[in-house]
Amino acid sequence: MRINAFSDVCLRALMLLSAAPEGGLFTTQAIAGGVGTPYNHVSKAVLKLRSLGLVEAVRGRGGGVRISAAGRAATVGGLLRELDAREDMVDCESPQGDCPMVNGCGLRGALRRAREAFYRELDSVVVSSLPHQSQMAPVFVTLLARRPA
Ligand code: SF4
Repeated sequence: MRINAFSDVCLRALMLLSAAPEGGLFTTQAIAGGVGTPYNHVSKAVLKLRSLGLVEAVRGRGGGVRISAAGRAATVGGLLRELDAREDMVDCESPQGDCPMVNGCGLRGALRRAREAFYRELDSVVVSSLPHQSQMAPVFVTLLARRPA
């Protein structure tokens, strides 16, 4: 199963923030640089993470966002569930017309169960446990080098 691009950006941003030194504040621009994703995509991801209470904003000069206590405890499975609002994995019913085989379709239920099994496997994976030193050190070095003097 493939996760969508928005979920991937949310996960990357949360990983970056969870690896930051305690209290580390990042602007959306810095997060965009750190996760290698355009600013407007990251901006939407940060808004979503804020609405879920996984990051918190600090306003004013030198402000930014940082991971919250809930964000430190968030699991990959939990986050993906929150971000995937689709009822079905395929468009069984759509404004363009319903699938002619929708009545009592066994495949529809099987796909839903498979997706739930996928999420369940990731329910024990805490996002903040994923980043490791050798992975994140070069990212933070690059971000520090870009920081305005
Ligand atoms: S065959 Fe079943 S799962 Fe596939 S689109 Fe039709 S209703 Fe949905």
